[in-house]
Amino acid sequence: MISEFSLINRYFKRQSNNKNISLSIGDDCALLAIPQGYELAVTTDTMVENVHFFADVESYDLGYKLLAVNLSDLAAMGAKPLAATLVLTLPQADETWLTAFAKGFFDLAEQYHVDLVGGDTASGPLTLTVQAMGLVPQGQGLRRSTAQVGDAVCVTGLLGEAGLGLKIKQGYDYVNPINALNRFNRPEPRVNSGHALLGIANACIDISDGLAGDLGHILAQSGVGACLEWDMLPLSDEVKTYIETTGDWLMPLTAGDDYELCFTVSPEKLAELTIPYTQIGVIETEAGLRLIKNGVVQALTNKGFEHFSR
Ligand code: ADP
Ligand code: MG
Repeated sequence: MISEFSLINRYFKRQSNNKNISLSIGDDCALLAIPQGYELAVTTDTMVENVHFFADVESYDLGYKLLAVNLSDLAAMGAKPLAATLVLTLPQADETWLTAFAKGFFDLAEQYHVDLVGGDTASGPLTLTVQAMGLVPQGQGLRRSTAQVGDAVCVTGLLGEAGLGLKIKQGYDYVNPINALNRFNRPEPRVNSGHALLGIANACIDISDGLAGDLGHILAQSGVGACLEWDMLPLSDEVKTYIETTGDWLMPLTAGDDYELCFTVSPEKLAELTIPYTQIGVIETEAGLRLIKNGVVQALTNKGFEHFSR
């Protein structure tokens, strides 16, 4: 069986030509330079077999998604990805598995110029952790706590695509499952969109646990509320068909894994946005999250949406 050190060298050590990375894999630490006027944005996310992913998932997709969810956190901060570390706990060193895992990881890493600068390798139940680091201009990182009353609530991309992919995996029969499954297995971190929001958006979060919950974090931390309009939600024909056949209209609001960005921006600055987005509602003084559907205002409680009158 392949040794720990040849495993690292064979699958994870790559040449870097990033001038901010003074030292990469092979020493006790990596050394990163933070350019003047920037802050280092740091995030980490872990994925545990049978908790965060199915045991039958392709290792290519695991490598891709593990990095993608971390880059999505950098995107939500408006940070430009710089480097990552990788902690692998593996039941065995299966080289077929490792080859595809590394390919998935580096396919995405190369796209966003992220260098793998270190990590740790151990044997045990399959657990995968990435820490990602990025650069954001000093004081400009997009926070959750700074939404303002009157802001437009906006999202990138479509809602519920990954949720539909999960439903398909769980047995929902759909004629053309490829797109939804792809969105579930290989989410596209909105790195460029996040960066383009710097200096324009007031608050931002990535949608990993569902729009309602994630927007809820912005609302709670900013001390505001919001009202969304059902008819403004960006839904694909596939998701609309899913809702028509199942009646499960909450899905695009509560399903996780979309990794789109949800951000708030003052109405005067909407015209400065250079990225594709959809406005879905407005930030209000009154706490809580509301939705106007068929002319009726409903409030989100922890039991789901309930009719609401004000
Ligand atoms: P230490 O004993 O100092 O923790 P290790 O022997 O664990 O160092 O690792 C040797 C080098 O390989 C270090 O630079 C470490 O960051 C890197 N490394 C270990 N595991 C991984 C991994 N899964 N991916 C990337 N780099 C790794
Ligand atoms: Mg170590």
